Amino acid sequence: MTRPLIVAIDGPAGAGKSTVSRELARRLGLPYLDTGALYRALALALGQVPELAGRIDGLVTVDDLSSEDRARAGEIAGALALSFEEGGTRLRLDGRDVSVDIRRPEVGERASRASAIPEVRAALLDLQRDLAARQGAVAEGRDMGSVVFPGADVKFFLTADLTCRARRRGGDLAARGEPAPEYVVEREIAARDQRDSSRAVAPLRQLPDAIAIDSTALDVGQVVERMLIEISRRGSP
Ligand code: C5P
Repeated sequence: MTRPLIVAIDGPAGAGKSTVSRELARRLGLPYLDTGALYRALALALGQVPELAGRIDGLVTVDDLSSEDRARAGEIAGALALSFEEGGTRLRLDGRDVSVDIRRPEVGERASRASAIPEVRAALLDLQRDLAARQGAVAEGRDMGSVVFPGADVKFFLTADLTCRARRRGGDLAARGEPAPEYVVEREIAARDQRDSSRAVAPLRQLPDAIAIDSTALDVGQVVERMLIEISRRGSP
């Protein structure tokens, strides 16, 4: 039996990974695996333990977190009761639909800090692999090609310049009724990129075997078409 197709899409915040991955998954008839949503769900779950959440929110570097706090965060990650629905576009945590809540900017911030905790990443690894095991996936995140699915059939690194990413993220926030000045969004995205790229475990980086696509001057349809061409060239479904 042939292994189901796995397409790995990594890249910095606001590069358009979610929109592109969702559309690509639809075109390929594959499940969409939004791994950022898992880290965001963890960030929400950490909110149930306010003292720990407070310490994580205040972290400059993960080295400042005690081993007890790391272990506790890893336990919480390992115990998450999550289920994706509607082709991977809706997420439930403990039976509650958290698809909207996980998109709040402060949840993204905490997700970014918590995701640098090695125990958290270890706890979420098998979950991510299990989600893609039966039917394959278009999997998006920061370490899809490097750690979670190093044997992915096709790997993409999707990027765009910082101003463009801030504009897109700002548009998403405005659409949700939470407008923010562009310079603030730009500063937050730059800080998140820096944290995601400089952490010791599974940092965001462009792999030599990943196909780089700069979406600054491309719309979603153009990026997806380019990916489909690459997949038909290299993929082995
Ligand atoms: O992609 P998204 O913005 O939803 O991810 C939220 C945060 O989760 C990222 O800033 C990153 O720190 C973390 N993340 C990660 N590894 C992944 C996906 C997301 O570290 N595979």
